[in-house]
Amino acid sequence: MEIHIAKSSNERIVIIGGGFGGLQLATKLAKGNYQVVLIDKNNFHQFQPLFYQVATSGLEPSSIIFPYRKIFQKQARFHFRMAEVEMVIPEKNEIKTSIGSLSYDYLIVATGAGNNFFGNAEIETHALPMKSINESLRLRNIILERFEESLSHENEDRDQFLTFVIAGAGPTGVELAGTLAEMKRFVLPKDYPELNFDRMKIMLIEGADRVLNAMKTDSSIKALQYLQQLGVDVRLSTLVNSYDGSKIELNNNQVIATKTLIWAAGIQGNFLKGLPNETKLRGNRIAVDRYNKVQRTENIYAIGDVASVVGDELYPNGHPQLAQAAIQQGKNLAKNFIAIQKGKEMRQFSYKNLGSMATIGRNKAVVELPNRNFSGFFAWIVWMLVHLRSILGIKNKWIVFMNWVWNYFTYNLSLRLIIKRKDV
Ligand SMILES: Cc1cc2nc3c(=O)[nH]c(=O)nc-3n(C[C@H](O)[C@H](O)[C@H](O)COP(=O)(O)OP(=O)(O)OC[C@H]3O[C@@H](n4cnc5c(N)ncnc54)[C@H](O)[C@@H]3O)c2cc1C
Repeated sequence: MEIHIAKSSNERIVIIGGGFGGLQLATKLAKGNYQVVLIDKNNFHQFQPLFYQVATSGLEPSSIIFPYRKIFQKQARFHFRMAEVEMVIPEKNEIKTSIGSLSYDYLIVATGAGNNFFGNAEIETHALPMKSINESLRLRNIILERFEESLSHENEDRDQFLTFVIAGAGPTGVELAGTLAEMKRFVLPKDYPELNFDRMKIMLIEGADRVLNAMKTDSSIKALQYLQQLGVDVRLSTLVNSYDGSKIELNNNQVIATKTLIWAAGIQGNFLKGLPNETKLRGNRIAVDRYNKVQRTENIYAIGDVASVVGDELYPNGHPQLAQAAIQQGKNLAKNFIAIQKGKEMRQFSYKNLGSMATIGRNKAVVELPNRNFSGFFAWIVWMLVHLRSILGIKNKWIVFMNWVWNYFTYNLSLRLIIKRKDV
């Protein structure tokens, strides 16, 4: 079956994935003369940096996702289809999707990255990832359920429900651990007066010898200090070897009894079947040239987390898998497509590092800008402003801001709701 989209005299650019990279590319292509088709398995764009606040009942899912059809209401020659792309057939200039096949003149793979369980099927079955809004909402349900379940158990038996282990101390792991620690202190004891919260444990397990391994050492030291102040048990240079849903075995032979292992330990590119196998690099990233063109292809490009630009001496292992890298690649590629139509030269991609940051709790954050690093209250304000600025939609910005203000003063958002589909 073929996906029906009216033929046009304009060349067709098909973009797979409306994340940070794909969305930027699609909106900037409004200035070109192409027919643009965006395909995504969801009908909304997701703001991943705030998933952890959904998982910890700080924000509603709807305040950090935004429907594609609304974003593109006014863009001419734009089409959206909600579908999962199953494979690419480069020799036919065609993709196969869950709703049919579609031809393209140019194809852009912007499928981002998924969870990496490093081949451990047992961990994959039992651990809880947080790579989509669905997974974040599921995590919110499960975290809250653990407290409800713990009420039906006593003593040591109860402890496994009150022990929360997070694998991976990158920004996601650190932010989750810090927020859970604040909930333990300020929110949960009021909801569950029958539970002794001295028994609730939050552990953060990290393979490297410091937290926030991709940031500077000073930021790692500060973040570790903050986490320890909040009572998080941080284990560095430690790996999770196995998890059966009740027991974690660490590589130092220690065993932790827990019903909740949150997986923030690794990602891998969403490589698509049919792309030349030789282009698959470490972490399932697609090898692209300095113009983001997939090696060994003529009209297929890849941007964002799934792409690894080969040949940039400053980034021999590819650019960091961050929103800014995806956004900048999307922008550059859009300019290049417009340049092609004007008979102008294409520009190589070069990454501008705008900095990185992580928050550990209220008034606690670390920020690294190209010319300055700082931490504490001011860093926390900067973190909030940068994130507010990046959320799509005035209404969403306003809702998130109001939630943060309300939460800051009352410690009491009423989002601790367990909402599930009936058949789950
Ligand atoms: C929890 C979390 C927190 C993060 N925090 C930060 C942060 O604070 N700062 C930062 O800079 N970065 C952060 N990141 C990383 C950042 O989100 C990514 O670098 C960025 O999203 C990459 O953009 P992208 O366009 O490559 O992919 P994505 O934004 O992941 O988008 C990929 C899109 O492709 C779609 N898709 C995938 N496969 C298919 C398919 N087969 N068919 C159809 N559609 C498909 C998906 O539905 C999705 O919409 C975080 C990531 C996570 C998971």
